Amino acid sequence: MGEFDIIEQFFTRPSQRAVLGVGDDCALLQPRPGMQLAISSDMLVSGQHFFADVDPAALGHKALAVNLSDLAACGAEPLAFTLALALPQIDLPWLQAFSDGLFALADLHHCELIGGDTTRGPLCINITIFGEVAPGQALLRSGAMPGDDIYVSGTLGDARIALEALQGQLTLDPQQLAALRPRLERPTPRVALGRALRGIASAAIDISDGLWGDLQHILKRSHVGGTLDVPCLETLMQASGFSYRYALAGGDDYELAFTAAPHWRNTLAQYAHSSQTPITRIGQIDAAPGLRLRDAAGELLQQTVRSFDHFL
Ligand code: ADP
Ligand code: MG
Repeated sequence: MGEFDIIEQFFTRPSQRAVLGVGDDCALLQPRPGMQLAISSDMLVSGQHFFADVDPAALGHKALAVNLSDLAACGAEPLAFTLALALPQIDLPWLQAFSDGLFALADLHHCELIGGDTTRGPLCINITIFGEVAPGQALLRSGAMPGDDIYVSGTLGDARIALEALQGQLTLDPQQLAALRPRLERPTPRVALGRALRGIASAAIDISDGLWGDLQHILKRSHVGGTLDVPCLETLMQASGFSYRYALAGGDDYELAFTAAPHWRNTLAQYAHSSQTPITRIGQIDAAPGLRLRDAAGELLQQTVRSFDHFL
């Protein structure tokens, strides 16, 4: 079985929305008139981003999920993606499970595989995703204003806790690990939330490297600072008994962090309720640069970035 048989058997399906899909030198995409393309790439490398023996269906899911999460952070509608795949050997059951996991998530978001590249090499998966968004509607990192609220979706730290448990760095009871493991291996991209935040959020980012670091990308791009309330952070973890530092410096969360002016509080609470999307207000944007932590009494903590680096 060669490269072209693999492409045909596992990665070729009739195109639904692309003008031309897999099989030619280029795919052809027709964005709706007046729409802008939103484009992002994310690469997963074996040993670096996942264990080589991870469930291939989960890996297919995650490879696309991390890319959909970037579109979500921009408020873009998923359209299509390409898949560049380096495989150490041809393992048919592995390829079947990988493509099943990949297409299950792709179908959920009507996002179509339109091309790619397949080669022999150390296991590596690179997806480039294409979405569309109306001009001026994309959520950016750069619009946060002093006085805006800071929010985060879902729970944080779960993936990091599961990872440390799988690496033997901490002990979880089997039930807890079973509950947290999907947060590491099968993250749910917040595409619907990103869509709902268009016109509301002043800035947004998806959390892949941990809230503490990723939020600072918003702060720097927006030329502002921020203060986070530790009691709010403490409510963000699914597993009980862990330091809020897991919520701050977890990583692999694929939740959205965003800012919005205070007059949106009711709208956001209603959206959270009707869509059953947990959204937590965790702090505020300030004019003074830097990111700070505040305790329940409103006192600033003498916590430095360095101490979080040590934690990682
Ligand atoms: P080229 O040599 O012109 O780059 P290839 O021979 O590598 O094209 O690929 C043949 C076709 O299969 C192209 O349309 C390409 O986009 C597609 N393709 C290759 N690998 C994949 C993959 N992993 N998933 C989807 N499509 C793929
Ligand atoms: Mg090629």
